[in-house]
Amino acid sequence: MPVERPASSLRLKIDREALAHNWRTLDRMSGSARAGAAVKADCYGLGVDACLPTLRAAGAQLFFVAHWGEVDRVAHHVPSDQIAVLHGPLTAGDAAYARARKVLPIINSLAQSKLWIESGGGPCHLMLDTGINRLGISPHETGDPLIAQLEVIGLISHLACADEDSAMNARQLDTFRALLPAIPHQFASLANSAGIALGSGYHFDVTRPGLALYGGVPRAELAGEIRQVATPEAAIIQTRQLSAGDKVGYNATFTAPAAMRIGVASIGYADGLLRSWGGKGAFLLRGDMRLPLLGKVSMDMVVVDLSQAPEVAEGDWVQIPYHLPDAAQISGLSQYELLTVLGQRLKSP
Ligand SMILES: *Cc1c(COP(=O)(O)O)cnc(C)c1O
Repeated sequence: MPVERPASSLRLKIDREALAHNWRTLDRMSGSARAGAAVKADCYGLGVDACLPTLRAAGAQLFFVAHWGEVDRVAHHVPSDQIAVLHGPLTAGDAAYARARKVLPIINSLAQSKLWIESGGGPCHLMLDTGINRLGISPHETGDPLIAQLEVIGLISHLACADEDSAMNARQLDTFRALLPAIPHQFASLANSAGIALGSGYHFDVTRPGLALYGGVPRAELAGEIRQVATPEAAIIQTRQLSAGDKVGYNATFTAPAAMRIGVASIGYADGLLRSWGGKGAFLLRGDMRLPLLGKVSMDMVVVDLSQAPEVAEGDWVQIPYHLPDAAQISGLSQYELLTVLGQRLKSP
């Protein structure tokens, strides 16, 4: 008799309705522009297989990954010509792969333009650098004969400060607008999640939300609109009774002030609950009762205070509070990091 793999003491709840709601909200807020979806880094850590079918069913038709190695898993769910690869082709092999898989590269430099043209050319997207100085051709390069040979579908740029009220936003917008007429294209795209909230001037034809799809709130305008999508949950794998003066965890950083009951939760920094949570945050019981974290976070576990929750028994589940703006405050991590650090053990329960 084959024995089944036991159930995990760790899991990641994905609220697919919230994910669909967030895409539809961002699409609506994009006005006459269509919203695509940034699905790089395994849908910001939440899982391509968990998220892609929902995003596609909600209406998304353009999907952004960073690496060529991310194409396969996304292409399992959506037509390959709806996939754009942000890093673009670095080698002739990348270009050949793009063509064979009918995936569109994002061309980021004159060198990539040359590589793409020499490998046969064809439809591609083009990234213009309007000030972030990361990837993209510079404004003075737009007149290069290589650019004229590209068959540009999407003409794209990326905002550096969309999550702030910065003069840089309007400067990048002006630069992008000024460059558009120089390069024939089918659609123009500037805004990420935060950029959508900057207003219709930033929307162009296609927007590229990522963070906010997955519950992130990069600007106050989005606060009432975006719903939490991901909630990590861990089982209590042991409870114990402490006496006054007993210590908890590595380096004995917590000392019980009085007799108290504690629980050991099956989640640690290897799962993305980084040590910056230690001694600060609290887990939640049934969604609302706070169970403060005690001492340092270990690799596979962390201790919680059960003083106020005598009913909690071994095997019960607790939630990690993953309302991202709040979690960012508590942990000192960015909302992006909170999602992308979530570990593999959460996703293979
Ligand atoms: C990651 C990324 C996005 C999505 O940005 P969010 O801030 O997560 O909405 C959009 N465009 C580009 C070029 C990106 O790299």
